[in-house]
Amino acid sequence: MPFLEFRDVVRKYPDFTLSLSFSVEEGQLLSVIGPSGAGKSTLLSLLSGQERPDSGQILLNGNDITKLSIQKRNIGMIFQDFSLFPSMNVEKNICYGMRRRRSERKAFCDDLLDLVGLSGYGKRSVTTLSGGEAQRVALARALAAEPELLLLDEALSALDPPMRRRLRGVIRNIHDQLGMTMIHVTHDIDEAFAISDRILLLKDGHAEDQGTAEDLYNQPSSLFTAFFTGNGTALPASLVYPGREGSVFFRPESVMVIEEEVDPAMHPMHIVLNNAEILSADFTGSAYILGLDYQGCPVLARSPVKPRHQYVSLMLLRDALHFLT
Ligand code: ADP
Repeated sequence: MPFLEFRDVVRKYPDFTLSLSFSVEEGQLLSVIGPSGAGKSTLLSLLSGQERPDSGQILLNGNDITKLSIQKRNIGMIFQDFSLFPSMNVEKNICYGMRRRRSERKAFCDDLLDLVGLSGYGKRSVTTLSGGEAQRVALARALAAEPELLLLDEALSALDPPMRRRLRGVIRNIHDQLGMTMIHVTHDIDEAFAISDRILLLKDGHAEDQGTAEDLYNQPSSLFTAFFTGNGTALPASLVYPGREGSVFFRPESVMVIEEEVDPAMHPMHIVLNNAEILSADFTGSAYILGLDYQGCPVLARSPVKPRHQYVSLMLLRDALHFLT
């Protein structure tokens, strides 16, 4: 049985309906991603108990929690704005929601500070902390209540990029050490890729796709997933397979750029697109991302070198093509 399950959960607003089934195994870190308005916050509200579904069930660790109040759900939450108590020091913030006996609290607090990399910070005022430190305290405080499930609501979004990356590592490390089941809501695909066991991609209130980061990137089930999870090109499928409907999608790194005309008959494993015009070449550090025009269609290709000619040939391995709608 899954640890957490949304079973045919429906929540209707006047202009929006969330309709969702998904499950999370114990100890998994699931990232929920999707564009603004896809239903990520609604999902979190249903899970934390701020909202009730119109129909369906939410099951946590074998219990039906659909109608339980927020207080009765053993779920920890971490928000973008930290939500610490400014009048309390670090230790008091952390001990606030602890369920343990008084005699055990100090030692447990020290363990948690250690876990989030803030040993010795107990007596500091939370108003003197950097954003990254404050979010670590918020993490420790959420863990102090020993929740069954931890929800992270855009928890890293307020931090600058290097700090975000560091805290990603902290979260993943805590997850691995404690085996804590976590649900992490983010609009940042790189972050979702970096820390998740699995990803749930929402679109217009439904699950558009779910799987590992590799599943979504390498085997997208729709053009929406393909473009949400990275760069790529969609061409009319008929351009590469006459008579075929829909689109053919491929990643920039699936394209080979050749600086001379290629005879398709010599390359049966490939689709050959001759006479593609280079419109732009963006240096990314490890390679160039070329923006090209092929018969009026924009194409992206990754090239380890900057081509010398304006017109090049593109070769696509047939296995790397996805036929999508
Ligand atoms: P996301 O977090 O992915 O940006 P939300 O879950 O916040 O998406 O919102 C999804 C849709 O539900 C939006 O169109 C929003 O306007 C609508 N919505 C959210 N909460 C309410 C509410 N309390 N009443 C009416 N509509 C709402």
